[in-house]
Amino acid sequence: MSDCIFCKIAGKEIPSRPVYEDDLCYAFYDLEPQAPTHFLVIPKQHIACALDIDASNAAIVGHCYAVIAKVAKQLGIESYRVVTNCGEQAGQTVFHLHFHVLAGRDMTWPPG
Ligand code: AMP
Ligand code: ZN
Repeated sequence: MSDCIFCKIAGKEIPSRPVYEDDLCYAFYDLEPQAPTHFLVIPKQHIACALDIDASNAAIVGHCYAVIAKVAKQLGIESYRVVTNCGEQAGQTVFHLHFHVLAGRDMTWPPG
């Protein structure tokens, strides 16, 4: 999508600090880290939010989770939290599906 910041990041029109890339997804460090390790995994395909996951694109979501596990192991991370905000009330600010991966500090539950 032409006016989507994460499509532009995936297409390298906007610079980012890469963590991992393959044909289906791209992972890069968050600009405003909320934990010692905080990166985002995005599908290269534009999916606006988790509400738009369906049978046609669900495999990409599974792939993203497999990538998260692979990258976590590469970074030596044994405990992490994956967060997807869907919709404004949940805190979504960028409307391109993304998985926050947070690690390196104690996490609270329930989340605020
Ligand atoms: P959310 O609020 O769940 O939609 O998350 C959007 C995330 O994208 C926030 O954590 C931002 O810090 C992050 N973000 C926004 N723009 C960039 C960028 N250009 N590079 C890296 N992270 C970004
Ligand atoms: Zn997009």
